[in-house]
Amino acid sequence: MTSRNDELFARAQRTIPAGVNSPVRAFRSVGGTPRFFTRGEGAYLWDADGTRYIDYVGSWGPAIVGHAHPAVVRAVQDAAAGGLSFGAPTELEIVLAETLVRRMPSLELVRLVSSGTEATMSALRLARGYTGRSKIVKFEGCYHGHGDSLLVKAGSGALTFGQPSSAGVPSAIANETIVLPYNDSAAIEAAFVAEGDAIAGVIVEPIAGNMNLVMPAPGFLEALRALCHRYRAVLIFDEVMTGFRVHPGGAQARFGIVPDLTTLGKVIGGGMPVGAFGGKRAIMEKIAPLGPVYQAGTLSGNPVAVAAGLATLALTETPRFYDRLSRTTQTLTDGLTAAARNAGVTFCAQAAGGMFGLYFAADVPNTFERVMACDKEGFNAFFHAMLDAGIYLAPSAYEAGFVSAAHSDEDIAATIATAARAFAAVGSDSAFV
Ligand SMILES: *Cc1c(COP(=O)(O)O)cnc(C)c1O
Repeated sequence: MTSRNDELFARAQRTIPAGVNSPVRAFRSVGGTPRFFTRGEGAYLWDADGTRYIDYVGSWGPAIVGHAHPAVVRAVQDAAAGGLSFGAPTELEIVLAETLVRRMPSLELVRLVSSGTEATMSALRLARGYTGRSKIVKFEGCYHGHGDSLLVKAGSGALTFGQPSSAGVPSAIANETIVLPYNDSAAIEAAFVAEGDAIAGVIVEPIAGNMNLVMPAPGFLEALRALCHRYRAVLIFDEVMTGFRVHPGGAQARFGIVPDLTTLGKVIGGGMPVGAFGGKRAIMEKIAPLGPVYQAGTLSGNPVAVAAGLATLALTETPRFYDRLSRTTQTLTDGLTAAARNAGVTFCAQAAGGMFGLYFAADVPNTFERVMACDKEGFNAFFHAMLDAGIYLAPSAYEAGFVSAAHSDEDIAATIATAARAFAAVGSDSAFV
């Protein structure tokens, strides 16, 4: 019997490239058929065959209070009943801006957009317009959306021109991006010494969550802060993933570092399309119509999307929300680590707030190279064993995982018990140990 997921996947591929609207969903990294979901509630998703999963993707981060939280659904319904979009200002947008500014004081002014990609593209243009310089520094393994300037990988030497990492990105644009190793303070210092007067800004994930999970090395973010000050470049923290996911005030509050600009997305829309960029008043005042840097959006600040974000953020402001989320996530990673050890599988894991990383390696990686050296086949075998047993992990060894406030102690215990069986099963595969 073919499953409904198989049927839908075959049908989707007739009209949608690879059957998906964003590449990782196609399961190319792990193989097999993507699950087509029909419903989500709390920590659970149900697929087209009616199978229930405990979800550790959470729409790649936004679902921090769980799926279909009644307060969020009600806020969306109420907003929708009053009209979907006006292309004109509304009071709710002000409330969201005030909430973001209160929770992240580095945002003196903030503008709403509709995706993380839009936020980072706008922040780069703003950094260039503000400084009158053109070069951008990014770090290998960090993902900042699919803007041309950011789909760039390192050239052959650290200070050579960046190379497009996607067809269709002109090399003239890639040449303006310098790609350096994450967590390498000496490399960024050398880049500033060589080209400091041409560098408009440095964009970084303050906790990297798009090459699995990589924590910043002690002193790395501090070095970026100091160098951007010294060379008057704009320091951009891309907190699209970490914003209100790893700490009530984002990664910048967790590490006590004040960036010049911050980009947000994911959690601030609570599952609806919302992004934002904001920061120092003197920089943000360069945005149109106050200043010469153009940026606009028909659906920016959309009332239904903003309502979902506000309701979600409000739920995270209960006392100890982040303590509990962090504890739940830590319990999960500790349990998985112990289960792997019992099964004799080389594995480790770490948590950061409501994010986690799983590594088929002896030690937690702190560089892109170390992440790439993890056992991808081991991950894929584990992924499928978990999926078959009703646990939905990110379908790639190079993505972070996400826990929500809806994950109960029982959900975590069930996940660890399932993982113990999965490790035992895949651990006996000789390719795996
Ligand atoms: C997801 C993500 C983006 C892109 O956001 P989209 O809403 O997918 O465009 C940018 N930066 C980081 C750090 C992200 O995790």
